[in-house]
Amino acid sequence: MLAGVLIAESLRVGAQLTGVPLQIIELARVEMTSTGVDQPRYWTPLYFTAAESEASRPAAELATCLAPTGGWYTDFHTATDTFVVFADKVSATHGVRPKTAPRKRKAVMSNEHASCVFCGEFVLHVPGWASSVPSYRLMRATWQEEHAFVVGSLHFSCLRASPARSEFAAEFAQIATGHGREITYQAAGEIQTLIQPGLGYVEQIFRGDECAIHRSDTRDSWLVREYAGPWYVLDRPQLEDIAQGKRPRLDPGVERIVLPREPMANLADATLPELLDSLGVTDRYPGLAAGEPEYEFWKYFAPKRVLEYAVIATPPLPAEAAAFLRDYAPGYRPIDFDALERDDPRS
Ligand SMILES: [Zn+2]
Repeated sequence: MLAGVLIAESLRVGAQLTGVPLQIIELARVEMTSTGVDQPRYWTPLYFTAAESEASRPAAELATCLAPTGGWYTDFHTATDTFVVFADKVSATHGVRPKTAPRKRKAVMSNEHASCVFCGEFVLHVPGWASSVPSYRLMRATWQEEHAFVVGSLHFSCLRASPARSEFAAEFAQIATGHGREITYQAAGEIQTLIQPGLGYVEQIFRGDECAIHRSDTRDSWLVREYAGPWYVLDRPQLEDIAQGKRPRLDPGVERIVLPREPMANLADATLPELLDSLGVTDRYPGLAAGEPEYEFWKYFAPKRVLEYAVIATPPLPAEAAAFLRDYAPGYRPIDFDALERDDPRS
């Protein structure tokens, strides 16, 4: 099987992808707070799979479908090969996947994003304790020789414990606090230039011993960034909670994930600690109880081991960040979105 991701907005007008049976396994809609020239603000990543025997065919077809401007590309991989597809050009490389790839694949076949890029174990997304790096972020593993891209989920505890945490944090900070930058990427002996999207948290409002806090210049959104790697995004509801003296709650909504193996029998009735225990990853979520997580089971589709669930939790912000935000939150002034809409031709 091959798996990859395609940004719907990267397709040129008039493009037709026919005759290649792609199965869409996940569809998302994401806001990019800053993008390259000729790129829209809202992106629609389509995560797909296809039969492996088709590998070269979708590559050639996609190459004819991608817009020639905007720095767009798409990529997909099989068990042994990675295809990076640019407008009218395909770069196929053998075995350049990050070193963690075989371990990642051990856990989940149909959704590679569900195992930790550091430890290879299953990642249940719990806000404040785990996160993911999507492929379109173009984050590079600067600590690896070939600077492979970081793609996938991670436990924050694994990131904190990793010898690569400083490099990870530095690369993440470059992306998070910027408006996009040009990077070069070597594949199969060729140099490719790509635009790495920035997240736009450009204004640093706090710098402490353990973390920094940055504010977005386009949204009511704040990024708390630990120097040891983990990060927390707070939006307006969280700032309002803090302003009222409450602990901020993160509610990412319903998550859909493929379990690595047959789950416990009473999955629908399980508590979050029981679920983590049955998945063998309890120790990856230290201090989780202090976040008072509210776990809710939604649905389980046994034939494909797809679990739908929701977790709301208080993120484990460093004490210095919490203290700063308690002073800062009551005085913040929301951004005037009407004025932004008038000024921003992309929206
Ligand atoms: Zn891990």
